[in-house]
Amino acid sequence: MSNSGTGHNPLRVAIVGSGPSGFYATEALFKSGLTVQVTMLERLPSPFGLVRSGVAPDHQKLKQAIKLYEKIAQNDGFTFLGNVTVGKDLTVDELKQNYHAVIFTCGAESDRKLGIPGEELKGSHTATEFVGWYNGHPDYRDREFDLSHPNAVIIGQGNVAADVSRILSKTVDELKHTDIAQHALDVLAESRVSDIYVIGRRGPAQAKFTPKELREFGELANCDPVVNPDDLKLNAASQAELEDKANAGNAKVYQLFRDFSERKSGSKQRRCHFMFLLSPKALIGDNRLQKLVLEINILSGDAFNQSARGTGETIELETGILFRSIGYRGVPIPGVPFDDKRGIIPNTDGRVTESGKFMSQLYTAGWIKRGPTGIIGTNRADSVATVNALLEDIQQNSTKDGKAGVEGLIPLLQAKNIRYVTYPDWGKIDTAEINAGKKKNKPREKFTRVKEMLGLLD
Ligand code: NAP
Repeated sequence: MSNSGTGHNPLRVAIVGSGPSGFYATEALFKSGLTVQVTMLERLPSPFGLVRSGVAPDHQKLKQAIKLYEKIAQNDGFTFLGNVTVGKDLTVDELKQNYHAVIFTCGAESDRKLGIPGEELKGSHTATEFVGWYNGHPDYRDREFDLSHPNAVIIGQGNVAADVSRILSKTVDELKHTDIAQHALDVLAESRVSDIYVIGRRGPAQAKFTPKELREFGELANCDPVVNPDDLKLNAASQAELEDKANAGNAKVYQLFRDFSERKSGSKQRRCHFMFLLSPKALIGDNRLQKLVLEINILSGDAFNQSARGTGETIELETGILFRSIGYRGVPIPGVPFDDKRGIIPNTDGRVTESGKFMSQLYTAGWIKRGPTGIIGTNRADSVATVNALLEDIQQNSTKDGKAGVEGLIPLLQAKNIRYVTYPDWGKIDTAEINAGKKKNKPREKFTRVKEMLGLLD
């Protein structure tokens, strides 16, 4: 038997998760010059992870990334197996037996917690739930969002908070030709929310929005962005941050806040208020959320290292719905080490570690490797780095063991009665969604239940 990576003994790699980092890892493997077979395993019947169910429906351009992933999927040696949950339908040991290497690219599916009283009250939601719901993710299909109170609150000032608040700010006309799920559009059409409060614990110089995302709030059909000019006063450290050339993005964001603060409030029916230096202290309500207690903060620390410190002084804000948008975290997979503090798989340069020791055959890339940072494209270099580490290990260990790859997995899945979804199966689902969308002048109308997707294939 020759070394793996040849026609006689292809390098067989299982990739767990079908989002951007999974596809970029697949691309890097196929570009390696070796003979490679990749099996991509995905919990849902549909591929593309957060590009399908995280990227906002009104950001269709960002979804163009899927075109590249579709090309990657056309490579000989690529197999997609959807509707298969690793850790439940297949064990990690079963993957190790059948593949030379396993790369976990399963993203960050859960949320960080605020850790304050009332966090679990009815009306208090995670951004993940809302984003999944309006994007038609089957896990969130039956979530309910009560938009009957005029005030809605979003905690956090990153791009996910921007997505959530923009969707709440837009009119039905602005959304109806996107691929937003119909059930979400119906609820948003009845929304009585008029004031959306987007709350940051630090100041306007530290907000994590990108300028492009923030600029959109100045272009909404029926919502004005509101910033109190007094909130834009900067301490010396923040001033220094904005003067640093490497921080041009934040300077642009700050300038946008300034522009918003100078706008005359018009006749629009909604307002999106950007507020700073406030930390949620408690959510209050009898059976459901009624008000939010916020502590006023000041910044302390040097430029680029400033943290929010509570002053003890509080204010209250009445609201019926709140979204915590303070960052995602990964979910552990049975049989794979997990760093519970950081919500990632512990690793060194993509090689999975446990108590500092490398776990042979196991690798990771994307948000589950480094935490939930960066845009879609950030994952490409990250996945390439992991694949390079994997190829280095394969070369050094000159592994001659043949592995069965997908041919070893299929009998296991059949024996367990798992209805796995192949890439051609997904093609049928994809076509049906696009056709359903055509009738409504939408890019697609997504299936929002796994049962419906599988039903189409039987
Ligand atoms: P993020 O950019 O890290 O923002 C998290 C926000 O939550 C920050 O404002 C942070 O404040 C705040 N926060 C964290 N802990 C908090 C606490 N205990 N109390 C109050 N506030 C708290 O995360 P994200 O918005 O979830 O986005 C994740 C990644 O996806 C980002 O890289 C983002 O750019 C990307 N993304 C991109 C797009 C796009 O390109 N259109 C869309 C969506 C997401 P501090 O700064 O003080 O920590």
